[in-house]
Amino acid sequence: MMIPTGSIIGILGGGQLGRMLSVAASRLGYHCHIYTPAPHSPAGEVSLHETIADYEDGKALANFAKQCDVITYEFENVPAKTAALLADLCLLAPGAKALEIAQDRLHEKTFIVQEANVPVAPFRPIEHMEALTQAIEALGLPCVLKTRRMGYDGKGQVIIRRLEDAAAAFEQLGGRELILEGFIPFAREISIVAARTRTGDFKAYPPIENVHKNHILHTSLCSAQPCSAQSCAHTPSAPTNGTYLSASELAQRIMSALDYVGIMATEFFELADGSLMVNEIAPRVHNSGHFSQNAGCVDQFEQHIRAICGWSLADMIPTHSVEMTNLIGHDMDDLTGWAARPDCHIHLYGKSETRAGRKMGHVNRIIKPA
Ligand code: AMP
Repeated sequence: MMIPTGSIIGILGGGQLGRMLSVAASRLGYHCHIYTPAPHSPAGEVSLHETIADYEDGKALANFAKQCDVITYEFENVPAKTAALLADLCLLAPGAKALEIAQDRLHEKTFIVQEANVPVAPFRPIEHMEALTQAIEALGLPCVLKTRRMGYDGKGQVIIRRLEDAAAAFEQLGGRELILEGFIPFAREISIVAARTRTGDFKAYPPIENVHKNHILHTSLCSAQPCSAQSCAHTPSAPTNGTYLSASELAQRIMSALDYVGIMATEFFELADGSLMVNEIAPRVHNSGHFSQNAGCVDQFEQHIRAICGWSLADMIPTHSVEMTNLIGHDMDDLTGWAARPDCHIHLYGKSETRAGRKMGHVNRIIKPA
């Protein structure tokens, strides 16, 4: 059933993803209510309603839920208890399960392998130093020690190259729950940004090729042409159960296993032989999907609103290729170069303070066939 236009969509989180969701929602005639702990948020600035309160403030959450017709999130580290409380009071999409799985790398990887039968990097939970030594023996060097929770943009992870570096790495991330992963010598990193409805309809953009700089996403390229890369949606790729599935088929398996509603990103490592392993999932609209705002088809923000509000999905087939470049920190200081280019669309997040490593905006460059 379609949620009537004019209804209120609640969004947990006040960042740029919430801002772009809110703009897309208003294009479809909805109003947004942002729930964020911080005042002057990028999303609050463009939305009709805003609650500024802590994610653990039960009274404020209940009040917020009463005013919304559906609630979604742009930030996946909302406490699981908060999501459960909201799900009792209002329609929540995606559901609390996706949030809970994505918040903990150990639960995430276990779920992806066991419930969706999709390959991930080999991993071991690490509770103490002895377990780390054993896990390094099992997985080999190099390997990557990560915090299970609250890691993003390369935060909370250390590469271990020599056995004698293990203790220092353990010490550096000390006191938190950890996971060790085998180091994957990937040829490329790609993501699938896909949408699923309550009735199980599924659509995805073609695979997006991502390049990171200093652990932060730098560029994402989505090619409209059927690409020659092995992970192209139409080319068989990762073996599971003896069959070969494309990246988007693997993402669909995970989303179906989660009974997911909305946009989700699945990040993959692609190996030199074209096989795929999932690195992580993001249960929300995603930075690598920003290209879609200028790709000639529905953008990820509108598609998410459509899915959570019970609309049919629009086609996710770009009419041309787009390369997205993030504007990080002081990249923002002089935009004249970008602004002078007729093939570029600039999207800014309205953040008043520029800080090193902070995502301030992005540019979508349209690539027309020669
Ligand atoms: P994450 O926070 O897990 O997404 O990791 C950030 C980045 O670190 C990834 O996009 C990869 O470039 C790199 N990375 C993370 N885990 C591994 C791994 N197991 N093997 C190789 N590179 C990795």
